[in-house]
Amino acid sequence: MKISRINENLLAIKKSENFRSINDLRMLSATRGIDGQGKEYVVFSSNNYLGLTHEKSVMDAARAAVSFGTGSTGSRLTSGASFELSLLEKNIADFKHTESALVFNTGYMTNLGVLYALADKSSVIFSDRLNHASIIDGCRISGAKILIYEHNDMNHLEKLLEQTPVPADGQRFVVTDGVFSMDGDIVDLPSLLNLKAKHDFCLIVDDAHALGVIGKTGRGTAEHFGINGGIDVQIGTLSKALASEGGYAACSNEIRDYLVNKARPFIFSTSLPPMVAAAANQALAVLSDSSKGNALMEKLRENTKLMRSLLEKAGLPIVQGCTPIIPILTGSSQKALNFAKLCRENGIMLSAIRPPSVPEGTSRIRLTVTAAHSQEEIEKSALIMKEIWRKI
Ligand SMILES: *Cc1c(COP(=O)(O)O)cnc(C)c1O
Repeated sequence: MKISRINENLLAIKKSENFRSINDLRMLSATRGIDGQGKEYVVFSSNNYLGLTHEKSVMDAARAAVSFGTGSTGSRLTSGASFELSLLEKNIADFKHTESALVFNTGYMTNLGVLYALADKSSVIFSDRLNHASIIDGCRISGAKILIYEHNDMNHLEKLLEQTPVPADGQRFVVTDGVFSMDGDIVDLPSLLNLKAKHDFCLIVDDAHALGVIGKTGRGTAEHFGINGGIDVQIGTLSKALASEGGYAACSNEIRDYLVNKARPFIFSTSLPPMVAAAANQALAVLSDSSKGNALMEKLRENTKLMRSLLEKAGLPIVQGCTPIIPILTGSSQKALNFAKLCRENGIMLSAIRPPSVPEGTSRIRLTVTAAHSQEEIEKSALIMKEIWRKI
């Protein structure tokens, strides 16, 4: 692209109703935010699934760790190796029942780092069509051959595996979201593990929207299906249910050592500050606590059920499922934008998801509920959305 074409390209984006811009929002609580004009919203567009961003013990943990400095001052391999990060990794590995874990600065960087380090041009990566952008980008920078299989379609994946044998001197990988970020559906992990037993490949599952959300005790996709083992690398984020910032790869000691030595996003970026790791660690402690964690998970499931049933009764075209990601399909970008705008005017914050985040013609509202929403917030908002939907 020529720089002189920027204006023309921006106009084209605007014309297609896919222009994006930033709206400041200050969160006063886990579910309430104000914009720059002071207008207040109930927020249904956050990934704060357990509402832990504003939980006292999590905020206190971050505050206490500020005394070790506001920044980490260097890469993890130099001065940025805080005790908090190592403790967090130990706790993530315990929680996920893996030997080891490595923290990256974001979930996005985790996917880049893992795929860059483990796959190379002698590898083949089989990737679900609806995988998160960070997986797509990780596949690209790895230099591996990429084969896309239809969304959660294990027959298609098997066909591709049969057609593409293990390369001489190379490795096959299958990489997938656990809970898909745009549709909120769950990967067919049992079938995937059957395929793995039959065809040899390394399995990477990204549990960004699964940790603290699915599985009886919030341990993610494997727990949801009652499966222990079989996933080679479980990726996740600290920025959704864990109310902080960062990502992790939960894996064997050997893979962790390899990532430390080979994953460029890990090596060449300043590590997270201690306060960020301390917040994530405390959020994980709350989730791991059998009474607190279970109560939050239960509330999240209750709120999800309530919102799903209210929207369905109101006649909104929601995508069926059991996760707190509730897509309302509008098809056109304009309709999604219009719905989100009218909701905002009525004090409800939602995201309109448009291409390139989703395929053309599948624009949608992506509504997420959290454990922190009150029954009243959900019921009132559902009623307002029903009226708005009728109007448009
Ligand atoms: C949100 C998300 C990420 C990115 O995580 P960040 O910590 O926000 O960078 C990666 N993978 C999936 C599936 C996600 O939904």
